[in-house]
Amino acid sequence: MKTWKKRTKAVHAGTRRSQYNEVSEAIYLTQGFVYDTAEDAEARFIQSGDDEFIYARYGNPTIAMFEDRIAAMEGAEAGFATASGMAAVSGALTSMLRAGDHVVSAQALFGSCLYILEEVLTRFGVEVTFVDGTDLAAWEAAIRPDTKAVFFESVSNPTLEVIDIAAVSKLAHAVGATVILDNVFATPVFSDAIAQGADVVVYSATKHIDGQGRALGGIILGTREFIRGTVEPYMKHTGGSMSPFTAWMMLKGLETIELRVRAQANTAAMIAAALEADSQLTQVIYPGLETHPQYPLTQTQMGSGGTVLSIDAGSQAAAFKLLNALEIITISNNLGDAKSIATHPATTTHQRLSEETRAALGITPGLVRLSVGLEDPDDLLADLRGAIAGL
Ligand SMILES: *Cc1c(COP(=O)(O)O)cnc(C)c1O
Repeated sequence: MKTWKKRTKAVHAGTRRSQYNEVSEAIYLTQGFVYDTAEDAEARFIQSGDDEFIYARYGNPTIAMFEDRIAAMEGAEAGFATASGMAAVSGALTSMLRAGDHVVSAQALFGSCLYILEEVLTRFGVEVTFVDGTDLAAWEAAIRPDTKAVFFESVSNPTLEVIDIAAVSKLAHAVGATVILDNVFATPVFSDAIAQGADVVVYSATKHIDGQGRALGGIILGTREFIRGTVEPYMKHTGGSMSPFTAWMMLKGLETIELRVRAQANTAAMIAAALEADSQLTQVIYPGLETHPQYPLTQTQMGSGGTVLSIDAGSQAAAFKLLNALEIITISNNLGDAKSIATHPATTTHQRLSEETRAALGITPGLVRLSVGLEDPDDLLADLRGAIAGL
């Protein structure tokens, strides 16, 4: 399996068949497992093997298939599936940190990630320093000999800044800090983050992994030692585990993720290039455009600009008018979905931030985030052109 390409792993890695030899992965909707003898129960609580389960909060065959499949795709030794992307982000950080520790984080973060770092960790005595994630000198200045972890989104939400995984990892590893990466926008398809230096990779499976807007989920990926020794004890006792039914949906999502995400990214690139030429928009942000400040890094790190672009209509009124005029693209706040989705971050996902913080992060009143789906590319472009023409 080690020599398999990602697309083959996405379909076959981690498969565990029952005595019936089913083709499609079985859903084990069971909370517990029977032990033949009291001695067997005792032995399993002391040390359980890869195919020995105790309780669904600790693990389950369907969940294990999902964990092993995505770990194989990412090149990670192990994974722990979680109830949501935020359970994965908070679990990865909280399981390894304690009072007195120092963390350096990029400041351009998804609102809930910012809440974990700014409000939750600090409440338990963890010191957090925020930096401009695209500025390597700022990382270097902020990372101290006692820094325990660094955290960033490889592509930030919604301003699509791309952060240099290899360079930041090098700075972090020089002091022995753990690199924890929220890799949602890169997707498992365009990610090579572990090889590039990340120690821990986290995904919200709610996004491209399900890809069809059905369920919340998340995954923490890393070394066997980190996942089994640090993450698992924390997650299994605090309760943020994934449900077996969700794990089955995510397994099915992984089977098609390569095809879906590449098609979505191709359409996103086409739309970004077409809209960049449109003078009515103040700005088109897409990491796959040559005008993007981190275009060369995007090419070497991901080889694609991804499935999301952001456009600036100039003002909140213009952004709302544009959103309300869209006929195919829906107004919602998920991303990575088969359905194209438009979001106004300033009034929804990033509403909690102060006007000053939003301005500092580049979340302007006219900014619209566009998650490109699986519809016909020409239909999507026509939908956007029609809405923009009405401004
Ligand atoms: C959506 C998202 C999350 C949170 O995931 P949920 O599954 O909604 O909990 C975390 N980080 C990023 C970058 C996201 O886009």
